[in-house]
Amino acid sequence: MDLTTRIQNVLYDLAQFTDHTSEEGVTRLPFTCASAQAQEFLVDYFKGIGLETLIDPTGAVYGHLPGVTGEERLYGSHYDSVRHGGAYDGTAGIVCAAEALREIINEGLRPECGISIAAWNDEEGIRFSRGFLSSRAVCEGISEKDLRSIRELATGETLEEVIRGSGGSPEEIPALAGTIRGYSSYTEAHIEQGPVLEELGLPVAVVTSVAGFRRYMCHVRGEANHAGSTPMRSRKDAFVSASRMIQYLYEQACGEEELTATVGSASVSPGAVNIIPGAVDFSLEIRSSRDEKTEVFAERILKDFDQMARDAGTSFAWEKLTETAAVAMDEGEIHILREAAERLRIPCGAMMSGAGHDAQIIGRWIPASMVFIRSIGGISHQPAERSEPADLALASLILREHMLHRR
Ligand SMILES: [Zn+2]
Repeated sequence: MDLTTRIQNVLYDLAQFTDHTSEEGVTRLPFTCASAQAQEFLVDYFKGIGLETLIDPTGAVYGHLPGVTGEERLYGSHYDSVRHGGAYDGTAGIVCAAEALREIINEGLRPECGISIAAWNDEEGIRFSRGFLSSRAVCEGISEKDLRSIRELATGETLEEVIRGSGGSPEEIPALAGTIRGYSSYTEAHIEQGPVLEELGLPVAVVTSVAGFRRYMCHVRGEANHAGSTPMRSRKDAFVSASRMIQYLYEQACGEEELTATVGSASVSPGAVNIIPGAVDFSLEIRSSRDEKTEVFAERILKDFDQMARDAGTSFAWEKLTETAAVAMDEGEIHILREAAERLRIPCGAMMSGAGHDAQIIGRWIPASMVFIRSIGGISHQPAERSEPADLALASLILREHMLHRR
């Protein structure tokens, strides 16, 4: 069976491990029955390639090929999914890496370094109030306190209780902190989950950085009043004021490269058909490849919002909710991947990742890199998510080159 067909088949097999009470797509939340079945499948799958396997206490599944030297390179992605997600997010990266290694073994080649493949658990952060469970655990660590404070969103149960309830050993998780340092590099293939590669007509790209973001809550205050007896000229309509800000934000962000700005939620009060809105609260999220750029843009926009509010006879206030730093992928690793693509004559772009990935957690600890695979229609996090089998095989071939690369 050729590489393309093998990748396709394994992705199809993995997609069967879903919560069958949810009708469409793949729903594989961490520490569920579907997740345990996928784990078991991955262990057998890695063994079938000839790898030594291990499941860590976060539910990450490792396959390991001993090497000639002490150096050990890590590849992988996550095997949990969102609710009603697709069959490619995360799993594509695991399978592309595993099949690359199978190619090497089948050809009778022997990488000079050790190779491990990790299938991370709970990257998506759907079940609990935080994501990147496995990758955080081996980097900065998940402490005993975290295990008792991270809660299941639906039930309020702690992470510790859920893991123990599923038969696991949460008390072993804190000791994993920093163990990522045992690897010399981390390389993750992942579907793009956006339309850029399709627009450019490219099957794959190296990722230059994973975007950082800042999130704010904005408050516009005007004056609630009677919708019939207050003339248009004497209104202090908070909703009109906020709408102008959102339109302005959109126009300003369109003029920037590698930056996105989104108002994803808003509330209008009092929220009645015959009352002029007196207050609007809306979220603001700004993402870009460089923190300095995010900061400068955010400061400018918030200052302009303030002026716009005054001009409309309203007031403006904001608070910062959270911020995450952008993580640059490793220059040396990017170079190896680009050279590999060139040698194989695979057209390969370079782009920022707007979405978060395990590589951004790991990239703060060891040299990390990513290969993006074209998404058909730019669609992801839903059942229609798809990538061409041929594109997946190209990513796998690039990983194969990386595994064989001599430093
Ligand atoms: Zn993903």
